[in-house]
Amino acid sequence: MRGPRLQRGRGPLSFGHTAGVPPTLTNEVFDLLVVGAGPGGSSAVATALRAGLAVAQLDGARFPRVKPCAGGLTPKAVHALPRELGVLVRGTFAEFEFNAWRGTRTVFGFRAPLLTMVARPELDNRLVEDNRRHARLSFLDGEPVRALEWREGRFHVRTERRELVARQLVGADGANGIVARAFPLAEARGRAAAVELVLAREALANDPVPRPCFDFGAVPRGYGWVFPKDRELSVGLYTLARGLKDVRARLFAYLGAKGFRWRSAAAEAEARASFEAHTIPLGGRLRASEVPVYLVGDAGAFADALTGEGIYHALESGRIAGELCARVARGESSSASYPAELERTVLRDTRWSWRLSGAFYRRPDLALRVLRHTLWRPLVHGTGSGATFSACLARAPRLWLAARRTRSAKRTSEIG
Ligand SMILES: Cc1cc2nc3c(=O)[nH]c(=O)nc-3n(C[C@H](O)[C@H](O)[C@H](O)COP(=O)(O)OP(=O)(O)OC[C@H]3O[C@@H](n4cnc5c(N)ncnc54)[C@H](O)[C@@H]3O)c2cc1C
Repeated sequence: MRGPRLQRGRGPLSFGHTAGVPPTLTNEVFDLLVVGAGPGGSSAVATALRAGLAVAQLDGARFPRVKPCAGGLTPKAVHALPRELGVLVRGTFAEFEFNAWRGTRTVFGFRAPLLTMVARPELDNRLVEDNRRHARLSFLDGEPVRALEWREGRFHVRTERRELVARQLVGADGANGIVARAFPLAEARGRAAAVELVLAREALANDPVPRPCFDFGAVPRGYGWVFPKDRELSVGLYTLARGLKDVRARLFAYLGAKGFRWRSAAAEAEARASFEAHTIPLGGRLRASEVPVYLVGDAGAFADALTGEGIYHALESGRIAGELCARVARGESSSASYPAELERTVLRDTRWSWRLSGAFYRRPDLALRVLRHTLWRPLVHGTGSGATFSACLARAPRLWLAARRTRSAKRTSEIG
């Protein structure tokens, strides 16, 4: 692991404009302050509240807020949620397609849902609302953090309106967040770009995609996706290629090649206008810190590089950070153990998916052939059962046998 450890008691560490201190929220010194209210931050908050900590959570956006995301949850992500999704479910699918673009269509099936669809604003808002019922949470939205300081054993966190003081800090503020810039404990090995559009079905003249599909090679070093969700479709492109140009034109060419037809020119123009690109930091290498600060989710660059899946990694790293905060508060543990505690269920996947993504996206047609012929059984059965990616690889022989005994299925056909 490169770089020095952040040490306790080495004098102040500050970031941002620290002059002109606004008033504190209360005289309270919070046990934990969480920056960000996506799945990572809210998972850390829920866990810390359950353990009896007094928590403050800040988000720069007003809730419910929009988060560009396809909202596809794998079974491990569903299991990592603090409670059942219930009415938030926008569709479940026991089949999905992994296609070689303009090559072979492969439909994989399992006896239970492989993908559960949600709308991210609804999911994130539900997690926040559940936590807000708890008396020991102070939740502040519409208050971006502007500056951070670690001084005399406390974090001093400033917004434009106030300063909050806390003993421990969780950075769950996503890609390019201020906490990871102030405490550079995670090094992203790369970044993916992702663009997404949410299309109303009524904007389309047809319904060309019956199940979630991933079209590998539809964009250089990446894939195109279509996720059906009730009356909407999430469509987009994910790519590891650097500086890819004409992304909007590529997305609409992809939709055209998938057979999408618009109900009217106005509907198409409206879809073209609502277009934005986003980055997903990947392959995060995490350093231990004796200053009690924990990066979770995209702030730590923990997402899966092969698929861009990041909700599970945010929920799970948030839970682990919250549990460790509680033990540190009781004097039973040190924040320096955070990377080791993330290893089995988060960092191993972050690392393996990053390593494999290079080879996979260099020759997606070849990689998909290997998947179709050998690896699909353990990966589909393992994923369907809620296993992490690295656990699927490590337990491949056992999962292969289990898959043969159940109705895990595969159908292939050529795409015309
Ligand atoms: C187009 C797209 C599609 C995706 N599709 C999927 C998918 O289908 N399935 C999946 O699993 N993953 C998907 N991902 C990845 C997933 O969205 C992220 O990995 C996940 O949102 C990370 O959660 P998080 O809690 O770490 O951060 P976020 O959800 O990004 O939350 C960070 C929060 O911090 C707040 N914040 C930022 N700066 C500050 C500040 N200075 N002060 C206060 N608050 C601040 C933001 O307002 C935000 O609410 C997708 C990503 C993209 C871009």
